[in-house]
Amino acid sequence: MTCELVFVGTELLLGDILNTNAQYLSKRLAALGVSVVHQSVVGDNPERLAETLQIALSRSDAVLTTGGLGPTKDDLTKEVCAAVFGLALEPDARSLARITAFFENKGIEMPPSNAKQAMLPRGAVIFDNNNGTAPGCAMEKDGKHILILPGPPREMQAMFEESAVPYLKPFTSGVILSKEIRTFGIGESAMAQRVDDLLSLENPTVAPYAKSGEALLRVTAKAETAAEANALLAPVIGEIHSRLGDVIYGVDVPSMEAATVALFKEKGLTMATAESCTAGLVTKRITDIPGASEVLRCGFVTYAADTKEALLGVKHETIKAQTVVSEAVAAEMAIGAWKRSGASVAAAITGLAGPGPDETGRSAGLAYIASTDGKTVWTKAVQTGHAGGKGCRDYNRTVFATHVLNELRLFALFAPETRPGGQPIDYDVKDMTA
Ligand code: ATP
Repeated sequence: MTCELVFVGTELLLGDILNTNAQYLSKRLAALGVSVVHQSVVGDNPERLAETLQIALSRSDAVLTTGGLGPTKDDLTKEVCAAVFGLALEPDARSLARITAFFENKGIEMPPSNAKQAMLPRGAVIFDNNNGTAPGCAMEKDGKHILILPGPPREMQAMFEESAVPYLKPFTSGVILSKEIRTFGIGESAMAQRVDDLLSLENPTVAPYAKSGEALLRVTAKAETAAEANALLAPVIGEIHSRLGDVIYGVDVPSMEAATVALFKEKGLTMATAESCTAGLVTKRITDIPGASEVLRCGFVTYAADTKEALLGVKHETIKAQTVVSEAVAAEMAIGAWKRSGASVAAAITGLAGPGPDETGRSAGLAYIASTDGKTVWTKAVQTGHAGGKGCRDYNRTVFATHVLNELRLFALFAPETRPGGQPIDYDVKDMTA
């Protein structure tokens, strides 16, 4: 079955609200084996909605709408959908009783305008709303279907699961399963190049995309059963692993921080952070993960140069000789955090978030990261390529933080001899562990 989604609401067009219904329905329909082939957003305008529905019905088996089921005059989705199918609206006694009971339970008198919500297209399958007042419905004409759902996500999701899924089930066959392969440390085009021939596969499909400095591959298989879909996915994911290797940090993991925290837990390791330009973002992201307390010992936010000296023991001469944004300062911050925290591994960052260059003329987007387990110190220079402009500061800090999380992950994952990326630097271990 092919399907189109039509989201009704002027506030969506104005950008006042984010269309989260689109994401929810697209994911759920794909999992049900329904191919979503188009999505449209229409304001509260009956002519434009009718035109959008006509086009959608001319090319797809089903149209799902959300929004525009309220009691006010501008809520016209049901009226327009019924008119497109040439159906009259008639009162539905059961829905009216449910809406009346909804208000009674709240101890409020039902506004007369809400009676409009109990007017439903003749012959429609009615979807009860267990979380609000507006019922939804489904109607069919000449093998085409329109399913109408409310706008508020909580009401829409419950109605979709309880009523729309059982309605659609007889028309669907098979499942669509997707796996997301997350990489870090490689650009989207470089990643795509390495798997170029796989991008033209038909089942499963392989699609690259980029998100906040990360490159991802989505592998999607369509099959009769989940087991068959998984069997199609497995060899392609295996092939991608062999092509991309260590730059993959997880498959179907929600984020770098989730992968890093999980790895530290698995290995029984603890971590500490010392942050300058990210000002706690790394630590925040670690603690976004439930159970972070098992692995995180502490985070130092040392923004001003003298606090790097006072709290982490960074040497005054090092800052003077190398400047505060330098490999040596990052290394001494990491060492200081390691010594003071008692963690297995500490990572530190000092850099230029922007938007402008620093006083020595170095561009924003530059950072030095160091990590240590008390035996070796690894450092890495990062250049994000965002030297200014709108959103530069936010982007740089996000990407910097992901790099720090990745450095922690690499420390936990590899012995020094096999570790990819970065470099160990020569530091006086005696001085470090004193
Ligand atoms: P109501 O009875 O509350 O008026 P409705 O079915 O008429 O519901 P709308 O009036 O279109 O729905 O939207 C009500 C609210 O639901 C919006 O203000 C918004 O907060 C949320 N909403 C509507 N559509 C979407 C959407 N596509 N994605 C996320 N939220 C949405």
